[in-house]
Amino acid sequence: MPAAHLLIVLWLLRDHRDDWEGWPEGMACTEPPVCVPCVALSLRLCPALRRGAAAVRVRQFELAGVRGALYRKGASGAVAVDDVNLAYDDPDIRWVVASALIRELRGCTLVPLATISRNSEKAPTPECGGLRSD
Ligand SMILES: [Zn+2]
Repeated sequence: MPAAHLLIVLWLLRDHRDDWEGWPEGMACTEPPVCVPCVALSLRLCPALRRGAAAVRVRQFELAGVRGALYRKGASGAVAVDDVNLAYDDPDIRWVVASALIRELRGCTLVPLATISRNSEKAPTPECGGLRSD
């Protein structure tokens, strides 16, 4: 088994577990993963996460497509007509100016936030790119 399949990565997401059975399995995600030391800081500083967050361990997170502005031919050049999420194999992808990569989350396990928070008391390290709040 390739090493990448043994890697489990943590995501901190807005809590939409009522959206479908097994959420967030199969979700298209533009957010980056998070390291454990940054969880408490993210929960404190991110307005969206303060409205309700879920920590998820993810086993597979393949790049699946892009989010961006879809353009079409206009009278005097290309014109943005919509904000879209498109898979890489969608023929329209050549008309998109991407603003984010989309990963498809698979092998998801919800983790109680209290479990993560207990392990995220220490300050983020410079290596993780975490910002200090002080
Ligand atoms: Zn971090």
